Amino acid sequence: MASAFKFSKKTKIIAAILVVLLLLVVTAVKNINKQQNQNDFIEFIDVGQGDSALIYSNGYTALIDTGTPNSATSISKTLKGYNIDNLDVIILSHPHDDHIGSTEFVLEEFGADNIIFSDILPADDDNAAAFKNIKDTANFLGTKCHYAKEGMVINIGNFKLTVLFSDEKAEDENNMSIVLMAENDGNKFLFTGDAEQDCERKIIDQNINLDCDVLKVGHHGSRTSTSQELLNIATPRYSVISCGLDNSYGHPHDSVVKRLQSTGTTILRTDRTGNITCKIVNGKIVIE
Ligand SMILES: [Zn+2]
Repeated sequence: MASAFKFSKKTKIIAAILVVLLLLVVTAVKNINKQQNQNDFIEFIDVGQGDSALIYSNGYTALIDTGTPNSATSISKTLKGYNIDNLDVIILSHPHDDHIGSTEFVLEEFGADNIIFSDILPADDDNAAAFKNIKDTANFLGTKCHYAKEGMVINIGNFKLTVLFSDEKAEDENNMSIVLMAENDGNKFLFTGDAEQDCERKIIDQNINLDCDVLKVGHHGSRTSTSQELLNIATPRYSVISCGLDNSYGHPHDSVVKRLQSTGTTILRTDRTGNITCKIVNGKIVIE
């Protein structure tokens, strides 16, 4: 009996070691899959007349804006397509319905570890209430809330996101937009939310480096944004316009499209092509 007991104990130890080894192998394979299945990328999600962009690197994720309240399906489809079940960070550029509209859905259906707001209270009561609801949901779900500050850096795998500008004194909500640069292997993506030309002027006056490879065109291509001066400094190779097909605002405005065309930048539009993916392949941007 003593020998049987000994053998049984030994078997148990071997079995335990095998289980641990198996778990290590499974975890390793999972990590390899996470890191090798996907190139790093930024995907501009077709959310209709709004903004939402997914940033992905080595399994780390960020979502800049969450479209309108009707964008839940397209965001959900995109995140599930990459097997994303939790976001590291959600960044809300400014408190308008077409940028924060599906935030509670994303928090509840996917979850996020962190959420970053512009550091200013919305002037409009409805927008202030919408922000408060999102904060309440975030607090309830254990998502940490942060406020954007100039110079703040957020690392998402190989992407370094830097808050370039966040006007704490802005009276217009579009000009509260968090302006940030996402950089990966020397490739730079500039996000200006719905910041208007007044705000662009302030950023340029501060000599902030706006040089980029991809510009998320401000305010869905509205004539109130994307000054010639901004384009002269930003010199984007690609310009992404996120807008709804036949939207009632007439976005993108002809004057902005012409201004962009005159610089030689390649214009990409979510209303025409759906989601736009900018992959980092061998250090270069590849559009899909
Ligand atoms: Zn907008």
